[in-house]
Amino acid sequence: PAPVLAIIGRPNVGKSTLVNRILGRREAVVEDVPGVTRDRVMYPAEWNGKRFTLVDTGGWEHDAKGIHASVAAQAEVAVEFSDAVLFVVDTTVGATSTDELVMKMLRKAKKPVILVANKVDDFVQEAEAAALWGLGFGEPWPVSAVHGRGVADLLDHAMKVL
Ligand code: GDP
Ligand code: MG
Repeated sequence: PAPVLAIIGRPNVGKSTLVNRILGRREAVVEDVPGVTRDRVMYPAEWNGKRFTLVDTGGWEHDAKGIHASVAAQAEVAVEFSDAVLFVVDTTVGATSTDELVMKMLRKAKKPVILVANKVDDFVQEAEAAALWGLGFGEPWPVSAVHGRGVADLLDHAMKVL
């Protein structure tokens, strides 16, 4: 079977937009309101002749434990069934307490993690992206899922890891 690349991160960081960018079509639901993606959604994808399965996450109904636990819990399930992970952070916001929770889980999971610094729409944001080195997941890959900036480089790298 094709290797699985999971896209995880908080609501609204641009996971579904990145999925659509990678697929080259608008298939994943993008919303300004957090929490629209249903469960995990799997898409067959291909880059440079290599096939893989892309998994979008997000939008589980959050229970009494709240959005933090919900994001971390669904990310954990996706990570368990993946071969590598794209961990998406909103560069314009930086790492939040929810991100911290997800990162804690990722450190335990021992799967390859690629840190995606999304919403780097222009070079001004590049400096903010570089600051994400401090999160301890290696090189942050600056991308703009909306404009496509940096996505080819990200995928070239991801195919080496997958
Ligand atoms: P998800 O909840 O992580 O799946 O996030 P979505 O893909 O639904 O996107 C949430 C919002 O962020 C939408 O309004 C997107 O248009 C916006 N967004 C996503 N990627 C980018 C980006 O690279 N730059 C900017 N400026 N906005 C983005
Ligand atoms: Mg989504």
